[in-house]
Amino acid sequence: MTGERKTKKVKTIKINVDKCNGCRACEVICSAFHAAPKYSSNNPARSRIRVIRDPLADIYVPIYAGDHAVAECAGRDKYTIDGKEYDECSFCRASCPSRSEFKEPDSGLPLKCDMCEGEEEPLCVKWCMVDALTYEEREEEVEEGADREELEIGLEALAAKYGVKTLQNTLARLSKKA
Ligand code: SF4
Ligand code: SF4
Repeated sequence: MTGERKTKKVKTIKINVDKCNGCRACEVICSAFHAAPKYSSNNPARSRIRVIRDPLADIYVPIYAGDHAVAECAGRDKYTIDGKEYDECSFCRASCPSRSEFKEPDSGLPLKCDMCEGEEEPLCVKWCMVDALTYEEREEEVEEGADREELEIGLEALAAKYGVKTLQNTLARLSKKA
């Protein structure tokens, strides 16, 4: 597909795993920001960032919820960095059938980081007192319609997994909260 080019703002959160101390403040503020009504509760299970923790091995890995995967992948990755061995799936951002991360606890629908839409700076970055998370913005050229394609692919995946009816009901419920 070809089309006009336009400028898009690209938002990036850089993660410095060495600075993270596993305090989970990022999980708390993310879940509170996304509660309905906003800030009415906090439940890290609803957070779009999850900290993979292994205190005995001094391993703390903040991971952002990315795209939904319909099926789990066939292979697994193991990383060893500076002598620390990270579990399979530790760095994966997908909401996938083989694990519980990044699923809305009530509906089971996938969660995805939205960069705290409407806020000047992501709240998890603001709440990280040790600067393990830092925020950057830049401009990038993209083809007109690229956003719509991405949205359609996401909706198709959700419809295939949960059924069109469930998807419609969830969208109707979310639109009432918005
Ligand atoms: S707030 Fe910062 S230090 Fe605390 S768990 Fe999250 S990323 Fe790690
Ligand atoms: S940027 Fe916002 S939505 Fe994304 S993980 Fe951080 S607090 Fe949650």
